[in-house]
Amino acid sequence: MGEISRRDFLNGAALTIAASLTPFEQLKAQAARRGVYPPALAGLRGSTDEAYAVIHEVAREGRRYSIDTLEADERYDLVIVGSGLAGLTAAWTYRDRQPNARILILDNHDDFGGHARRNEFRVGKRLLLSYGGSESMVAPASHYSGDLANILSALRLRPERFERESVFHRKLYPGLGLSKSVFFDREHFGEDRLVTGDPLLLGFDEFAPLNPGARTPDAFLADCPLSNEARRGLSELFAGMRDYMAGQTTEQKVATLARTSYRTFLTDTCKLPAAAADFFQGRSSDNFGYGIDAIAAIDAMSEGFPGAAALNIQERMGGHADDRGPYIHHFPDGNASLARALVRSLVADAAPGRTMDDLVSTVFDYSALDRLGAQVRLRLNSTAVVVRNARDGGVDVGYVRDGTLRRVSARNAVIATYNSVMPFVCPELEP
Ligand SMILES: Cc1cc2nc3c(=O)[nH]c(=O)nc-3n(C[C@H](O)[C@H](O)[C@H](O)COP(=O)(O)OP(=O)(O)OC[C@H]3O[C@@H](n4cnc5c(N)ncnc54)[C@H](O)[C@@H]3O)c2cc1C
Repeated sequence: MGEISRRDFLNGAALTIAASLTPFEQLKAQAARRGVYPPALAGLRGSTDEAYAVIHEVAREGRRYSIDTLEADERYDLVIVGSGLAGLTAAWTYRDRQPNARILILDNHDDFGGHARRNEFRVGKRLLLSYGGSESMVAPASHYSGDLANILSALRLRPERFERESVFHRKLYPGLGLSKSVFFDREHFGEDRLVTGDPLLLGFDEFAPLNPGARTPDAFLADCPLSNEARRGLSELFAGMRDYMAGQTTEQKVATLARTSYRTFLTDTCKLPAAAADFFQGRSSDNFGYGIDAIAAIDAMSEGFPGAAALNIQERMGGHADDRGPYIHHFPDGNASLARALVRSLVADAAPGRTMDDLVSTVFDYSALDRLGAQVRLRLNSTAVVVRNARDGGVDVGYVRDGTLRRVSARNAVIATYNSVMPFVCPELEP
């Protein structure tokens, strides 16, 4: 058991320095959080106004915190700002190389994992899981090599297990006679119609590469509520035999496609009618979050949207062929399980178990994440506002929790957050 730190004492006393909350409000906030299990909370979750209140004041309103007159509450070998996959992996790697290192991880959210978050729902006696952020390990066989493969192995995570039918039921929908389909709505196409057997396979698809139930483009298009002109144009586009930019060099084509939306490429370059462009309009939303009017044509085509086949620009398109493999390497809570595996390894008291299977259902004890005397401590609801080199060659870090500014010192620090915020917090970093 380590010594009682000044911070732990102050936690109880709730001393306010540079505070925007009264001591009573701080105690109330602490009490409200006691026993809270963030993955099961309902309502607006994640990057809420509350989670960002402190850093928005710094970045938007110019508030600056001074830690000059504060003494360091605690000392660590390493302080990490950000408990996303990058910060947690940094902690794991550091501890792997320096097994006795004392590490503090700070994060402004109420849960760890950054963009890799977990949602839990109870429906009767059943536990339902979903991801609240990033979903899948993309092509782990080729992308997750070297150090990353070693970390997964040490955590007993074997992504290839998802390829088993018993783990990821890829035959479920095809087995029921279902296929990928497109819904045409009355507002854009004059009638509501669902057309099955969609031949278009885009990136990050669990049905890649076979697309069971897909029909030929012409058979599929024949059932779509489109004009003959739109059908003909789409048929030619899918066939991929026409160079719509004939006469231009590869450089010119690539430059044009990079500054032209895919929608404009379809209507202005390929001369397709608007209804043909409407056919693709929302289909980029899944991966990009935008319609095809806001996606560069070259990015859309790198993702699998048709039109590039005869342009002879394949080598200049982004995306990896490997990414077209089945998008099935994920836990029920997506990449949150990767974060949970890292935290379980770093903070042994936080969760029982050692396997990939028990990781899915185990309930984490959030009160153990930041326990006095632990070698690795993970402190949530804590926003770093100052990170600077110290005179002794180490690093000083100031952070705000419950309205109170605190200072910790460390031999090293890792900043694993958003680039846009760090110049305000650590001006010493080169932009
Ligand atoms: C829509 C979308 C879908 C994605 N899907 C996938 C996917 O399926 N598979 C995949 O591999 N990748 C996916 N990604 C990318 C993936 O989410 C990120 O690459 C990865 O999660 C980034 O991890 P990180 O640790 O760098 O950052 P983050 O996860 O953002 O973690 C950084 C953490 O630091 C915290 N922080 C910031 N400033 C401070 C501060 N001053 N003090 C304390 N804490 C701070 C942040 O709030 C956050 O919790 C997706 C990205 C997006 C946008």
